[in-house]
Amino acid sequence: MKVAQDTAVTLHYTVKGPDGQVLDSSLGRDPLTYLHGHQQIIPGLESRLEGAEAGASLEIHVPAAEAYGAKHPELVFPVPKAQFDPDMELTPGVQVMTQGDHGPLVLTIVGVEGDTVYLDANHPLAGIDLDFSVQVVSVRAATPEELAHGHVHG
Ligand code: ZN
Repeated sequence: MKVAQDTAVTLHYTVKGPDGQVLDSSLGRDPLTYLHGHQQIIPGLESRLEGAEAGASLEIHVPAAEAYGAKHPELVFPVPKAQFDPDMELTPGVQVMTQGDHGPLVLTIVGVEGDTVYLDANHPLAGIDLDFSVQVVSVRAATPEELAHGHVHG
């Protein structure tokens, strides 16, 4: 069976950034299972998996625009240092969890100047082209129940 709309796809993946650094990998863990055609994985990966068969190994380059999108400079904003826990280490690269309008939001400290901390609400992978190595483990038709729920059952 080939990867197509409404199939349950199980795959192993390794994703690398532009410098070849490994950003994430399912190897050594359980493979990822998702419902194809339901926007559960990044669009550039989903579209390129279309038609792949179980057992296939694919190298897939996904431009930033089809991954986590462009970096938006307006999502970097200043916050007074006094708003942070005094014990917190305020250095660039440190991530802060907060509650956004649509659920939890990860903010990254990108700068500290005097009494001001600059936070970046862009996704940590925004603006980055991604290279995936994918092994398709299995492909099967999703059950009517899975389609009704919009996710795969174990
Ligand atoms: Zn369910």
